[in-house]
Amino acid sequence: MLNQISSLIREGKRFFITSHIDPDGDAFGSIFSLYWVLKSLGKDPHVYLKDRVPYRYDFLPKPPDMVHRLPRDTYDAVIVLDCGNLFRIGEGYEHVKAMGTILNIDHHDTNEAFGKINFVDSEASSTGEILYRLYKSMKIDFTYNMAVNIYTAVFTDTGSLRYDNASPAAFTICKKMVETGVKPSYVSQMVYESHPKERFLLLGEVFGTLQTFDGNRIAMAYVTEEMFRKTGTTSEYTDGFSEEFRKIRGVEVSVFMRQTGEKRYKISMRSKGTVDVAQICSRFDGGGHKNAAGCHINGDLKEVESVLKKAFNIA
Ligand code: 5GP
Ligand code: MN
Repeated sequence: MLNQISSLIREGKRFFITSHIDPDGDAFGSIFSLYWVLKSLGKDPHVYLKDRVPYRYDFLPKPPDMVHRLPRDTYDAVIVLDCGNLFRIGEGYEHVKAMGTILNIDHHDTNEAFGKINFVDSEASSTGEILYRLYKSMKIDFTYNMAVNIYTAVFTDTGSLRYDNASPAAFTICKKMVETGVKPSYVSQMVYESHPKERFLLLGEVFGTLQTFDGNRIAMAYVTEEMFRKTGTTSEYTDGFSEEFRKIRGVEVSVFMRQTGEKRYKISMRSKGTVDVAQICSRFDGGGHKNAAGCHINGDLKEVESVLKKAFNIA
């Protein structure tokens, strides 16, 4: 598989690279590292992301010509990274199929194998790890721009090397990237300690919504558009909120509801026990990993809460 992908890269010239909406550190780090690798090989990579880069990932060396509107063009390959299904690319995703041969590189359990070539390894800590294997097989010389992106992909997707997916491979890759010049304290400060004050005003509002059920087994909290207005924030400020409530002793699953429309909520679930939240989210057309997954549910807050309580048998 690695050989097939490296030949495709060596033979092609123009590449289109993209990932999912609401991109996280793995999505940004993967896309940007691939951009710098393709550049180093003299290729012509084009990066598209529906969303703009949020403040916490703005320090990453990124393509100067990244676009946020889907181009009407064709490429030697369309490389989709860290994305479980095409729908998650966002608006216009159907068009992507006509833009070139789709190469799907991902590590989500629920990946739908939508590519012509699918390199999906749910054992990999992150998409960054899979790409690292590819780069190594291609004997790429790592530059700082590549290294800091690979490090951020692996480091953030393993919850700072703390989650179950923090494998020996994840540690090894981070170590190698540090040897290449990445400063762990700098990345951590940028990603985790560079929040505007308003984020904490919002978090205060969200803490006030916390409820637990079934002993303390299930925790639920939410954020509404009204709270964003009140604190002068946007959805960008909620990155990391879903992890907060898993920190409660006894909690097995935390459920975070974020209002995205008058009657629509984005749900983020985190598990630290045996509950497979990807399976629960897939019932609502979402997906992800056993310990971290997401989906959307339509309805007002009461309706969405009630649907979720039923899903966890706590209604
Ligand atoms: P988050 O809750 O941080 O948005 O996402 C947690 C994990 O679930 C990530 O790996 C993310 O890619 C995946 N995920 C989140 N929302 C969706 C969704 O609507 N569909 C699918 N397939 N995966 C999702
Ligand atoms: Mn990932």
